[in-house]
Amino acid sequence: MAESAREIRTVGVIGAGTMGRGIAQVAAQSGYRVRLIDIDSAALERGVAGIEKGLARLVKKERISAEDSAAARARIETGSELQALADADLVVEAVVERFAVKKQVFEQLDEICPAHAILASNTSSISITKLAAVTQRPGQVIGMHFMNPVPVMKLVEIIRGLATEQRVYDAVEAASRTMGKAPVEVHDSPGFVSNRVLMPMINEAVFCLFEGVGEAEAIDQVMKLGMNHPMGPLALADLIGLDVCLDILRVLEEGFGDPKYRPCPLLVKMVDAGYLGRKSGRGFYEYSSN
Ligand code: NAD
Repeated sequence: MAESAREIRTVGVIGAGTMGRGIAQVAAQSGYRVRLIDIDSAALERGVAGIEKGLARLVKKERISAEDSAAARARIETGSELQALADADLVVEAVVERFAVKKQVFEQLDEICPAHAILASNTSSISITKLAAVTQRPGQVIGMHFMNPVPVMKLVEIIRGLATEQRVYDAVEAASRTMGKAPVEVHDSPGFVSNRVLMPMINEAVFCLFEGVGEAEAIDQVMKLGMNHPMGPLALADLIGLDVCLDILRVLEEGFGDPKYRPCPLLVKMVDAGYLGRKSGRGFYEYSSN
């Protein structure tokens, strides 16, 4: 039996996008050696630039020292090949929210990573049990769902797949705490808790805009001022990425077979147009820079 309770020293992060770069940053700040992998070299460069900017901001705010920032940066190695994860103890996959892509990544990770390694997914909605089943180590596959922006948000929703072993859960819970996060345990179900509750609200807000019930600003103001949400649902959708929201809604729709999760046609249209939110400079709002 593999020793998945072995101490975690090296953390692999796959995908240097919105989430991967944040996960790499907090892991490096917490003392882990980090290997950040992305197939797209431009995305990797943007990811590293984002991490450097994030660390610099923390130094400026006097939250960390310049030495700690430099040490965290030095702990991050980057690459485009999963082979670099041959000595990883924990891997957090943060590639696009598509089962076919994640399946391929997990199959490769299973081949490359040491027997004791834990394979975690940052998926927002895809079944951990299904991802685990494509590997020869389903007991060592788990959901580690960080929130956006990762350096700021406290929650890590930890998702147990059907086969996830207790010691694997314990190791991931401990690693989350080491990263300064608050882990919350949930079971495997489409969208888990976070996105099962959040996405229908975002989708309903998009329907309100689509049907002309209110302007984007009005819809967001209602939820901010009336419900005490720190951010309106449309601004939040822009932050998450409209493509990511659409992918999650599709997983909910298919997973539950329930039309109540049907994505609003306006959301589909915006994604088709490449209006993906902050990352593309335009979503429900316009952004001058990323
Ligand atoms: P993103 O599109 O910003 O980044 C994904 C990155 O993965 C891209 O840089 C892409 O080049 C890379 N990639 C794609 N296929 C790859 C492969 N085979 N190997 C290596 N790299 C690959 O996406 P994101 O918003 O960071 O989301 C990543 C994951 O995190 C998704 O599963 C998403 O559901 C989840 N998530 C997103 C948010 C959010 O607010 N955006 C929050 C929580 C969880």
